[in-house]
Amino acid sequence: MKLLRLGEPGRERPVLLAPDGRHLDLTGVVGDLDRAFWLDGGPDRVRAAFDTGALPEIPAGEVAGARLGSAVARPGKVVCIGLNYRDHAEETGAPIPPRPVVFMKDPYTVVGPNDDILIPRGSVKTDWEVELAVVIGKRARYLETDAEALEAVGGFAISNDVSEREFQLERSGQWDLGKSCETFNPLGPYLVTADEVTDCQKLGLRLSVNGERRQDGDTANMIFSVAEVIRYLSQHMVLEPGDVVNTGTPAGVALGIAGNPYLRSGDVVELEIDGLGSQRSKLVPA
Ligand code: ZN
Repeated sequence: MKLLRLGEPGRERPVLLAPDGRHLDLTGVVGDLDRAFWLDGGPDRVRAAFDTGALPEIPAGEVAGARLGSAVARPGKVVCIGLNYRDHAEETGAPIPPRPVVFMKDPYTVVGPNDDILIPRGSVKTDWEVELAVVIGKRARYLETDAEALEAVGGFAISNDVSEREFQLERSGQWDLGKSCETFNPLGPYLVTADEVTDCQKLGLRLSVNGERRQDGDTANMIFSVAEVIRYLSQHMVLEPGDVVNTGTPAGVALGIAGNPYLRSGDVVELEIDGLGSQRSKLVPA
């Protein structure tokens, strides 16, 4: 299933994108695409409601004019894996990590997939990162096998792990300052439930800036697979339904390419992942 949220920030309603392309209103079926959605059996309730054929359609004109909200509402936490693609580790000059590199991102950074991205005040090194986001559907603690880890995955979405490299690398021994700036995590357009993704380690992911292709990777090239990442994280923290895990970015970020073409006001960044849709955001000053 492809689920989305339509409406102004804080007032989004949950919507099902039907296989025939119609947008069906899920108001009254589920509250929102949040933690409670998973705890209350949201996917089954949506399927049952769809099968009745009675879900009201939102007119195409109304959909076209509406804002898309983030694919997850109010995630409890956003956990990120750094340097999880060999080519990206190499371009940044970092060694291939022997274990996943884990950091956290302020969950309030999560915004809609087409919302403006704010360039922080004083920033000269705002950078992009297309990533496969994992949405946790089931509580995960001390998982032992890859199969258990994949069972905890509720769905997937596109994530832009926007990063300010000076704040990240030059101001502190930790990365947090450059990862948690306002609007630094566009997420969506869809929450694609896990059953619809045949193999999450075979997804092409791409990013362009002003129409120029900058990243062109494949989740097959992750150093630590989605299952390994979830299992590893669960040894150190509890992952709760509605949490988001950004699984790392392939090569081609501004930090790693010739001339370091960091983002400027007016730039447009576009992201896509096979089967998960696309994002388009404009850069504006904070
Ligand atoms: Zn990242």
